[in-house]
Amino acid sequence: MSKYDVAIIGGGPGGYVAAIRAAQLGMKVAVIEKEHLGGICLNWGCIPTKALLRSAEIYHLIKNSEEFGIKVSNVEVDIKKVIERSRAVAKQLSSGIAHLMKKNNVTVLEGTAKIAGSGKISVDAKESKIVEAKNIIIATGARARIIPGFEPDGKIVMSYKEAMVPEKMPKKLLVVGSGAIGVEFASFYNELGADVTIVEIMDRILPVEDAEISQMAKKAFEKKGIKIHTKSKLEKLDKKANNAECHLDINGKKSVETFDAVIMAVGIVGNTENIGLEKTKIKVDRNHIVTDDFMETAEKGVYAIGDVTAAPWLAHKASHEGIICVEKIAGKKPHKMSKNLIPGCTYASPQVASVGLTEQAAKEKKIAVKIGRFPFMANGKAIAMGEPEGLVKTIFDAKTGELLGAHMIGAEVTEMIQGYVIAMNLETTEEELMNTIFPHPTMSEMMHESVLDAFGKALHF
Ligand SMILES: Cc1cc2nc3c(=O)[nH]c(=O)nc-3n(C[C@H](O)[C@H](O)[C@H](O)COP(=O)(O)OP(=O)(O)OC[C@H]3O[C@@H](n4cnc5c(N)ncnc54)[C@H](O)[C@@H]3O)c2cc1C
Repeated sequence: MSKYDVAIIGGGPGGYVAAIRAAQLGMKVAVIEKEHLGGICLNWGCIPTKALLRSAEIYHLIKNSEEFGIKVSNVEVDIKKVIERSRAVAKQLSSGIAHLMKKNNVTVLEGTAKIAGSGKISVDAKESKIVEAKNIIIATGARARIIPGFEPDGKIVMSYKEAMVPEKMPKKLLVVGSGAIGVEFASFYNELGADVTIVEIMDRILPVEDAEISQMAKKAFEKKGIKIHTKSKLEKLDKKANNAECHLDINGKKSVETFDAVIMAVGIVGNTENIGLEKTKIKVDRNHIVTDDFMETAEKGVYAIGDVTAAPWLAHKASHEGIICVEKIAGKKPHKMSKNLIPGCTYASPQVASVGLTEQAAKEKKIAVKIGRFPFMANGKAIAMGEPEGLVKTIFDAKTGELLGAHMIGAEVTEMIQGYVIAMNLETTEEELMNTIFPHPTMSEMMHESVLDAFGKALHF
């Protein structure tokens, strides 16, 4: 029997980052992982999708290269190679985590773990064992939500996993759900030539984003040929040999349409089953473990982080929670997680990025706001890059000048949003933002101009 200060169930971005930080703090740490280090993020989520989207972006640029004075003929997509590259990138990063574990003296145990009493974890592996730990962190992540009747079969009905490694390119694709994952796949397949339709039950796509940005995203995707039906749903699916008849309710109107493939992107459910929660006091709310501000569950000494806990379900949130909870275990004084400061990014074409309150949320809180907007078409770098479509929107408290939120759509906004995250984290005033010098020519100048616009001082628009 081995004894650890911290034993972590799951080696995703929550678990492995918590392990590294715990080791840095001098603790004896074990990570138990049943599949592959790096979790969904590195193996089947963030990273391989970004590799796929990069291929789509390059294809798009080459197809449209004449605008830049470059003629290329016979441009073709080799979907097999696109997937091979995405898988290789995932593998490279996952192996890198093994190296990081070694470097930090973290013990990695391969196997399926389950809490087996106070301070004990049973590991089901070739040689099963009991691991003893003063503290246990549950970082088991989540899986795709499966709706009965629409179970993935890997050929016609796909969850995100199958959608990342399609056997062949679908000619006609239905994407059910328009959160970040659904929209990224819609964008990927559309860029590569598929005829893509999105159905979304809510009244707009990317429903967590600012309504104005959602609206702009809808227009931009429709311009690229993606058909979007909001207030709509897939009701029934009749599978045929090579396609499926999809019974749709499009804003109250019933129709039947045939698609080669259907991607179900309707959310996730936390992996809370078979991990020994039954004999603990741990509470689960709608498939996700309930924790306090420092990720401790109702069972003393047992913590939970990442996708197995409450939303938002993002890799950087999982990692940050890992750090907070390990620092708490070590007796440090970590800050509480500010959910308002967690940025959200969608890597479609165009990209969407945001942090903080939407305009609607600010108004619901009865905060008088000042709003700044700056369009991409007024930015020199965006025009030089051939990326004239997009918007940077900022929301300030009209009374205090506090930056409440920022919402962006357009090229590279997922790289830019961090500027506003830092500003909000440091509680920067509008004055300080306006007095900041931004390099020229950059797209980030739009971030400055948007702030200036909120106070009637925009220079280039
Ligand atoms: C298609 C897709 C794209 C995404 N893109 C992004 C993005 O661009 N940016 C972003 O921030 N997020 C993205 N996400 C979300 C991101 O992947 C998750 O938020 C993140 O992986 C959560 O990390 P985690 O450590 O909580 O869980 P996971 O990454 O799910 O890791 C959990 C690990 O626990 C292991 N495990 C589970 N049960 C046991 C057990 N009983 N014993 C041992 N091991 C166990 C699993 O094998 C897994 O490796 C994406 C997700 C998907 C599906």
